Amino acid sequence: MTRLVLVLGDQLSESLSALASGDKANDLVVMAEVAAETDYVRHHPKKIALVLTAMRKFAIRLRALGWTVAYTRLDDPENAGSIPAELLRRADENGSGEVLVTTPGEWRLITSLRDLPLTVRFLPDERFVSRGSDFRRWARGRKQLRMEWFYRDMRRKTGLLMEGDRPAGGKWNYDTENRKGPPTDPAFPAPMRFEPDAITQEVLALVADRFGLNFGSLHPFWFATDRAQAHLALDHFISQALPLFGDYQDAMLSGQRFLYHAVISHYLNIGLLEPLEVCRAAEAAWQQGRVPLNCAEGFIRQIIGWREFVRGIYFLEGPEYTSRNLLDHHRDLPPLYWGAKTRMHCMAEAVSQTREEAYAHHIQRLMVTGNFALLAGVDPQKVHEWYLAVYADAFEWVEAPNTLGMSQFSDGGVVASKPYVSSGSYINRMSDYCSQCSYDVKARTGAQACPFNLLYWHFLDRHRDRFSDNPRMGNMYRTWDRMEDTQRQTVLADADTFLSRLEAGETV
Ligand code: FAD
Ligand code: SF4
Repeated sequence: MTRLVLVLGDQLSESLSALASGDKANDLVVMAEVAAETDYVRHHPKKIALVLTAMRKFAIRLRALGWTVAYTRLDDPENAGSIPAELLRRADENGSGEVLVTTPGEWRLITSLRDLPLTVRFLPDERFVSRGSDFRRWARGRKQLRMEWFYRDMRRKTGLLMEGDRPAGGKWNYDTENRKGPPTDPAFPAPMRFEPDAITQEVLALVADRFGLNFGSLHPFWFATDRAQAHLALDHFISQALPLFGDYQDAMLSGQRFLYHAVISHYLNIGLLEPLEVCRAAEAAWQQGRVPLNCAEGFIRQIIGWREFVRGIYFLEGPEYTSRNLLDHHRDLPPLYWGAKTRMHCMAEAVSQTREEAYAHHIQRLMVTGNFALLAGVDPQKVHEWYLAVYADAFEWVEAPNTLGMSQFSDGGVVASKPYVSSGSYINRMSDYCSQCSYDVKARTGAQACPFNLLYWHFLDRHRDRFSDNPRMGNMYRTWDRMEDTQRQTVLADADTFLSRLEAGETV
């Protein structure tokens, strides 16, 4: 009997376990563009165009490799609207009773496939270094799950940047060398861009027609949409930007949207690139003396460290992880996240490049938009939906632990040992934003005071019971406690005024 081999939009890898377990001669690959996936949040149009184009090209590639592919387009009149409904339709057409699927990266889809009246065989996603069971074993019995220890195990397991059983250069982590402020004259010529071909043009027309009102600019569309292009983009990054990636990893500069970042997460997350090949390429560049160790290590740590770690957390914590709100934050997401005018230059920069590129780099996501939402007490669900919608690389397994755990602390400390909050001084140190802002980053009170300054102390004060005993936050509380009582009252009153204005929808 024909089995169905399901290939999802973020599973576009020839090495996929479902394909490896299938039989080209007898099985049918099922791929479907469905409204349930394009509409569960209002995705950025560039993200939808990327996934649909890459799916269409991958289906062509599979056919060239000898597979029979049943492909459903979004505008197909027979389209059943969701992945489970498409599987049922194809099973009915072909008399199939069994589905092979590489375990999806979202509980939402796993649950809906489990409910199907078909035999669904879930296979491990072997594109990751750490499988779910490995991570559970690693996590068992540990009081706290910390990325650094997990990362060292991943280094040992892969042999990346290892000299025998010791880390290359004698240190596991070169982060202290990776915190330089913004470069005065960045030399990276930006990520590689690709002209849309005929397949891409067709998808762009469809996306413009159906999703033109979603937040985000569809044009210019320059992403890689197949494996060969994604490889060119990777090579370009390794030769042009990786040599300075580490140094300026945390820096931000007005008008410089990519600095020395790789801009490959959206390719990795849909399967056009695989994590180990990317890390091996960075390691080879270091071995050939083209890239310093702090840059190669910093980059590799993001991929076999953070990327694998957050995936482990997502599956370990279970489907209810995304509904946690331990800090009890309930404010609406301010309209400035959707492009409404703001006087905060850092926020305006991060949001406008998000709208135009479906991209912001890590520190913009964590210490600008994430920091502001956390300090202002925005409902983490609303923050989660925003991040899931607006970034081309956003898939729940990676987005949710980063947003809800690392950025909003709504999991109570599973991902991060303390909340990532800062006043304006951090943004001032790491960027040139404050020099172009109408707020004063040095002012602690008054109408001109940087909102991050007001809200930082407000956050610490309102969560004193939870955080004052945290050893990593003791200094913050000691500084707050050393202030004159009247000054503390003024800061809190000014912060309340700011929050009321934010809530009233005024331009802040
Ligand atoms: P680089 O800075 O060049 O890093 C190289 C690679 O390392 C990335 O391509 C990515 O694959 C990996 N990486 C780096 N940091 C992380 C991390 N914290 N978690 C997982 N992988 C990491 N990343 C996503 O892939 N999808 C998301 O939806 C996503 N949402 C985020 C939400 C918030 C609030 C925060 C703070 C971070 C989020 N990240 C997410 C992590 C990180 O910001 C992006 O991976 C990174 O900005 C992608 O750009 P890049 O390819 O230029 O990365
Ligand atoms: Fe952002 Fe404050 Fe700096 Fe303005 S002064 S750019 S609001 S940190």
